[in-house]
Amino acid sequence: KQAAYAKLRDVEPFTRCGTRIQVMINAGLRDDISALAMTGADGVGLFRTEFQFLVSATLPQRERQTRLYRDVLDAAGDKPVIFRTVDIGGDKAVPYLQSEHAEHDENPAMGWRALRLALEREGLLKVQARALLEAAAGRDLYVMFPMVSEPWEFDAAKQVFEDQLNHLRTKKKLLPDSIRFGAMLEVPALAEVLDILLPRIHFLSVGTNDLTQFLFAADRANPKLAERYDWLSPSILRFLRRVSLAMVGQQVELGICGEMGGRRLEALALLGIGFRRLSITPAAVGPIKELVRKVDLGEITSAMNGWLSDPTVNLRKELQAWADQRGI
Ligand code: PEP
Ligand code: MG
Repeated sequence: KQAAYAKLRDVEPFTRCGTRIQVMINAGLRDDISALAMTGADGVGLFRTEFQFLVSATLPQRERQTRLYRDVLDAAGDKPVIFRTVDIGGDKAVPYLQSEHAEHDENPAMGWRALRLALEREGLLKVQARALLEAAAGRDLYVMFPMVSEPWEFDAAKQVFEDQLNHLRTKKKLLPDSIRFGAMLEVPALAEVLDILLPRIHFLSVGTNDLTQFLFAADRANPKLAERYDWLSPSILRFLRRVSLAMVGQQVELGICGEMGGRRLEALALLGIGFRRLSITPAAVGPIKELVRKVDLGEITSAMNGWLSDPTVNLRKELQAWADQRGI
């Protein structure tokens, strides 16, 4: 199998019907970027910048952040890297930032985390914005905000970047060639205001790890619940299909960066409800490219529409049978 995936490294993931699917990787460390060359993935769909904060005993200074982001961009070469601003809090506790607050957060996943924390700790986001803008001087920069719950949070975070950009401009520094801003969709409430959000953003990336825990009110870190809520449940897939339908005709790219996209049947389901960009764990890139090449999008779309119209259907069983019939 490993040899088969290595062969697929240079093969572009076109479906049987000729649609190019983007297969990207999730990363968080400088060394993760070598997986781009090894797998032939299209870029980094999620770079978790909080990793540097998590492995550090003190707040990483701007120079260290800039160095990491520059190294990552150097290693990625021509391929795009979507940097997600810090998602600290929840299951990613950083004592030196949260100590004075931690004892009050009884539900940290739903608490003071990610963009909520970053917007209040404005110095933190400012420094990160400056580091990203400087690291991407003369290149394309993609920035994504985690846990956006309301459009104003996206605006406020973007403004921090605009302010830093203006500052660099007055100092006559070399700026990024282009900057694209995106939001993660992992808080269900955001899905109800896509009409307000979409005109503001360049791309939307669904984080199904968090989205699932919020849709089912089930802690993603609790092993007792891990097996219980299936990504192939009609609740999740109908929700995601609604999001994907809302994007039709909009100039906003839609992707998914939760672990779900790297699993065989789940990826199949996602293709069948309109997702064309999957950002996944590097080990899954080969298998998912192989799968993509065997899929006819028309077929899987009508199959999914049929199954999702009846919530009693066992989607895992149906998708498995569908895949077996086609040697997938
Ligand atoms: C997600 O929530 O699906 C996601 C990709 O982000 P993280 O797993 O880092 O919370
Ligand atoms: Mg998340």
